[in-house]
Amino acid sequence: MAGGLSPQQAERYARHLSLSEVSHRGQQRLLQARVLVVGVGALGSPAALYLAAAGVGTLGLADHDLVRLSNLQRQVVHRTASVGMSKVEAAATQLAELNPEVRVDRHPYAVTAENAMALFAEYDLILDGTDTFAARYLLSDAAYLTGKPLVHGSIFRIEGQVTDFVPGRACYRCLYPEPPPPGLVGDSPAVGVFAPLPGVIGTIQAAEAIKLLTGRGDPLVGRVLLHDSMAMTFRELRYRRDPACSLCGDHPTIRALVDYEAFVATGSAR
Ligand SMILES: [Zn+2]
Repeated sequence: MAGGLSPQQAERYARHLSLSEVSHRGQQRLLQARVLVVGVGALGSPAALYLAAAGVGTLGLADHDLVRLSNLQRQVVHRTASVGMSKVEAAATQLAELNPEVRVDRHPYAVTAENAMALFAEYDLILDGTDTFAARYLLSDAAYLTGKPLVHGSIFRIEGQVTDFVPGRACYRCLYPEPPPPGLVGDSPAVGVFAPLPGVIGTIQAAEAIKLLTGRGDPLVGRVLLHDSMAMTFRELRYRRDPACSLCGDHPTIRALVDYEAFVATGSAR
């Protein structure tokens, strides 16, 4: 045993153990960590692959959807033979082949206002791989209300962004108090996605999760990283907790999960 690791673990994680930014201590933390990946699609694919490779002890996968042929252009955890299968089951099989030491908890259903609190309570960190505004507000609210850090990522056509929401240090509502007008920003399949873009964003999300879990580095807290894959630029915007935020502000009005479909459709929480 090398620092509590088996010989196989010492070999598998050798390049982390010799890296001062992770080391035995950080690797032990990863092995004990529980991360929930919500959405096993374009962002969840690279994020889950890297978190499994890096030795996160328990990976929860939540997604209600089935693998479709049109997903394979960018959702790299899935295989052609998996078309028609549950995304959670398909990904779990691939992750087990990559690293059988990782325990994969399967949640093959949609995360909703009814189940999010209980689900999030089981994990140390939540990674947002969803693709709707309703889901982003739901995940941010539930992560804040359960006291869990949330690594947010989103993509649109050729652009993406990443930031970390740590409870008490701002939330998605601080950045976006109001949802975009319905119909203005499409989640529809007619909107294209540059294949490697979610690989870039989802991989940065995995890096942020590992940093938050090991307590190393300078995480994207209070900073949103904006990426344009055509210009191939990365910009950073700083933001702060909004004292007027309806969730994490000084006088919050949201103390429980709301109806997110209605909020996104009308801009008002009920
Ligand atoms: Zn807030």
